[in-house]
Amino acid sequence: MKIKSAEIVAVTARPDQYPPDNMNEVAFAGRSNVGKSSLLNLITNRKKLAKVSGSPGKTRTINFYEINGKFRIADLPGYGYAKVAKSVTENWGAMMDEYFQNRQSLLKVVLLVDIRHEPSAQDVQMYDYMKHYELDGLVAATKADKLSRNQINKSTAMIKKTLGMGKEDKVIPVSALKRTGQDELMSEIAKIVEQG
Ligand code: GDP
Repeated sequence: MKIKSAEIVAVTARPDQYPPDNMNEVAFAGRSNVGKSSLLNLITNRKKLAKVSGSPGKTRTINFYEINGKFRIADLPGYGYAKVAKSVTENWGAMMDEYFQNRQSLLKVVLLVDIRHEPSAQDVQMYDYMKHYELDGLVAATKADKLSRNQINKSTAMIKKTLGMGKEDKVIPVSALKRTGQDELMSEIAKIVEQG
């Protein structure tokens, strides 16, 4: 799938600010600093669509992008930043609950994990959460440029195991730095969106 247009349509802190629940949606989730903004910028071919590493821990928003006028990508707030106030963390949980539970158009959540590390307890929790809502099955392993081909294979197997992923589920290594993996990721997303 070629991305011909990518527009930010909403930066939201509350459900009543979300765009209408009427267009297929795929969300991107992951801990702060995992490389989510960089990946979103890469796949949308924009330098600054998603802000790269502003100040983690500030107000949490879900940002919606409309792609090719056909589907949306929802950029979920990163988790796991140690210095975030407790109230912000609690609000994050409530926000995710509400969004996962009620968003009819949401077809899949792409979980981003750093390819160099075993998924954290929070990553596992997030993936379990995705399973609960049947939104699991697709993981992007970021910063793949940091590892050799051989290490990448080992690491993707380890990620699959730690997250308890199924045989058909996919871990796609990506690098925003080297600009690799995005075509495979986008073709998976295209399949999801086309099947609706
Ligand atoms: P976010 O907090 O998940 O949105 O992460 P960012 O996109 O802001 O990236 C966090 C840090 O990781 C920044 O210092 C990026 O330069 C770095 N980073 C992001 N993607 C890559 C990548 O593909 N390779 C490498 N080596 N570093 C990356």
